[in-house]
Amino acid sequence: MALRRFRFRRKKEMPDGLWMKCQGCNQLVFKKIVEEHLSVCPECNFHFTIPAQKRIELLLDAGTFQERYADMTSIDPLGFKDRITYAERLSAEQEKTGLKEAALVGTGKIEGRQIMFGVTDFNFLAGSLGSVMGEKITRIVEEAQEEGLSLVIVSGSGGGARMQEGALSLTQMAKTSAAIARFHDAGGLYISILTNPCMAGVMASFASLGDVVIAEPKALIGFTGPRVIRQTIQAELPEGFQRSEFLLEHGLIDMIVNRKTLKKEVARLLNYLAPAS
Ligand SMILES: [Zn+2]
Repeated sequence: MALRRFRFRRKKEMPDGLWMKCQGCNQLVFKKIVEEHLSVCPECNFHFTIPAQKRIELLLDAGTFQERYADMTSIDPLGFKDRITYAERLSAEQEKTGLKEAALVGTGKIEGRQIMFGVTDFNFLAGSLGSVMGEKITRIVEEAQEEGLSLVIVSGSGGGARMQEGALSLTQMAKTSAAIARFHDAGGLYISILTNPCMAGVMASFASLGDVVIAEPKALIGFTGPRVIRQTIQAELPEGFQRSEFLLEHGLIDMIVNRKTLKKEVARLLNYLAPAS
């Protein structure tokens, strides 16, 4: 009885939703403070996942984002069903996020410079790569080439290729990669920004193909997750394996940039590297 009263009192003092656990330092941090720091942990600098709309606000000049293909939605080509049908799952994700799909694409400006822009949203089916994301990314790569614009894509995906679309998802890896290769050959500039987590089919295709690859601090980046690798090879992995800092040291990415200075840094890269238009 005494224990129950104690629990009740504690719960009353710490109502749900005010605190959150940081994945970086495992500490409880005050949610409001994290939000004030652009969703970055004030204790350890872990960068939390943010919605695509928030990313647009942080990275692009206010009011400049012009979305393309906003109404493109997935169909259910395989009639896929697990606990619920794929169609039901899509509806639920759309309702939860207010997005039609896991990627938003369009044009926008960064410090006055017009660019082609794409961003994936982890909250929508873990930012997984399905036919719609693949098609949207491919189209903006091709349009960046046609319109002579530099390309900036912010990627975050825990799911990689979307299993509910089977092989159709996997083909998006080749499709986006081929479009980026053509864009590259034509002299286009592509800046890829990796956010936590950026894994599997997304990382193994368009996310890793930037001329400059930037990552946010402490982001999990790789193909297969560390737990599966550990179980498969039956060996301990090095400290910080698949985190941004480890990957920078080993040459997989070019730079780590804090969210607070990301826009400035991308603007600087565009100024140095964007082909003259
Ligand atoms: Zn932390």
